[in-house]
Amino acid sequence: MSAPRPLVDIVGAGHVLDGAALRERPQDFWNPVATRARAVVSPASVPELSAVLAWCNDNGCPVIPEGGRTNLNQGTAASPEAIILSTMRLDRIGTPDPQAMTVEAGAGAVIQTLQERCEAQGLRFGLDFGARGSAMLGGALSTNAGGFQALRYGVARDQVLGLEAVLADGTVLSHLTAYAKDNTGYDLKQLFIGSEGTLGVITRAVLRLHPGPVTRSTALLGFRDFEAVTRTLATMRRNLQGTLSSYEIMWEEFYEFNLAALSEGRRPMQDRFPFCVLCEAEGFAPESDDERFQNAVMQAIDSGDAGDAVIAQSLRQRDELWRIREDFDAEQRLFTVMIDFDISLRLRDMAAFVAEAERSLAREIPEFLGLHVLGHLGDGNLHVTTGLPTPERKDEVKALIYALIARYGGSISAEHGIGINKRDYLHHSRSAAEIATMRRLKMALDPRNILNPGKVLP
Ligand SMILES: Cc1cc2nc3c(=O)[nH]c(=O)nc-3n(C[C@H](O)[C@H](O)[C@H](O)COP(=O)(O)OP(=O)(O)OC[C@H]3O[C@@H](n4cnc5c(N)ncnc54)[C@H](O)[C@@H]3O)c2cc1C
Repeated sequence: MSAPRPLVDIVGAGHVLDGAALRERPQDFWNPVATRARAVVSPASVPELSAVLAWCNDNGCPVIPEGGRTNLNQGTAASPEAIILSTMRLDRIGTPDPQAMTVEAGAGAVIQTLQERCEAQGLRFGLDFGARGSAMLGGALSTNAGGFQALRYGVARDQVLGLEAVLADGTVLSHLTAYAKDNTGYDLKQLFIGSEGTLGVITRAVLRLHPGPVTRSTALLGFRDFEAVTRTLATMRRNLQGTLSSYEIMWEEFYEFNLAALSEGRRPMQDRFPFCVLCEAEGFAPESDDERFQNAVMQAIDSGDAGDAVIAQSLRQRDELWRIREDFDAEQRLFTVMIDFDISLRLRDMAAFVAEAERSLAREIPEFLGLHVLGHLGDGNLHVTTGLPTPERKDEVKALIYALIARYGGSISAEHGIGINKRDYLHHSRSAAEIATMRRLKMALDPRNILNPGKVLP
């Protein structure tokens, strides 16, 4: 099937991908299977995007909004008759305003480009995660992404002051205000943030910025028990006076596995520890920040909480430490069939949860290939990955872990969203009344169910 003629007329033939060219395109970052869709259509402006949606709505054609395709839940998977609506051409980034501390950007702005534009003005865009080089603003907002610095700046939602989105029927809702305070009725922007393209297509946003830090200190710490990890988080928060920006935990199995794959035998710390933490602070006082950071790390050691620590002495060393946390290549090779969970839990439950998950898997599904755990501990967010040699028992693993998350009162999606992969487990984290209310919202805004059908809601 090729693109419908009216859509080609709206965006121009050069901005439509269909036929064989489309079938060569991988579905997304994690799924190398060919993209299934009637066409990818890339409007250049909000009026064009609105016209595309209006046509699709009138003709009952499913629409899959798309940014950088880095989502982890098949959020951009399409059916053969769907139109993929790419926002990549809506990539304009305005000049960051150092006085108002805001910037306006289009949905197609790549996160890293946005970060760099702000940095050039001495400002910080407070969202950062591994897919920064490909993920786009619209995708990050519609999944309410979290990442490495949520501890300090909050999640994607917290960066947004004003938003523009287009409804399924083409109606443009534009509220691009730059005010921190704006209590003028319902806060409609929140409907589109985190709803994964099921309620509308985000086209632009006015973003809150922060002063750009001028110093950065990074350390890797080893801990023998989990309580010591959380105690140190609390003291670091206090001692570093609000400059702590990342506190990333790695369980031993993940840390040792990645270290072996990356470092050719070099070890930042000689001993093995059940838990390692990558900790970073960014501040504004070159004359005192390093010393304060060193003191905080020394206090963790002197108190007996941390068994060892290494402080990065150069940008290269910092990058090497972060690579241990950010690189997933070896893990993807190890876990032939990879199953990952992105969960929120109370800090006090985390160690017990992981131990119980491991015990249950060993008992029920002995062929599982181990458990790798890491996460944004400062946000109560763990990423738990396991794997199987073959896919047959994948659903059993998912059912077991999701039921366990529910028993601990956790969230089945801390930051990656629901998409297709977690849709059938939503009831573990949201009540029947909440899911029914989500459905009523969906019906009200997208009565013909054209926007990302089959995602989020079971
Ligand atoms: C290596 C790697 C590391 C990652 N690390 C993190 C992390 O630490 N924290 C974290 O939160 N996430 C992380 N992610 C996932 C992250 O959520 C996504 O990368 C990102 O938020 C999605 O942006 P995208 O532009 O790729 O969106 P896409 O993947 O294209 O789309 C994501 C979802 O949003 C919808 N969508 C896209 N654009 C729009 C729009 N304009 N309007 C409405 N809906 C839209 C899509 O339909 C889909 O449902 C990681 C991903 C990778 C590959």
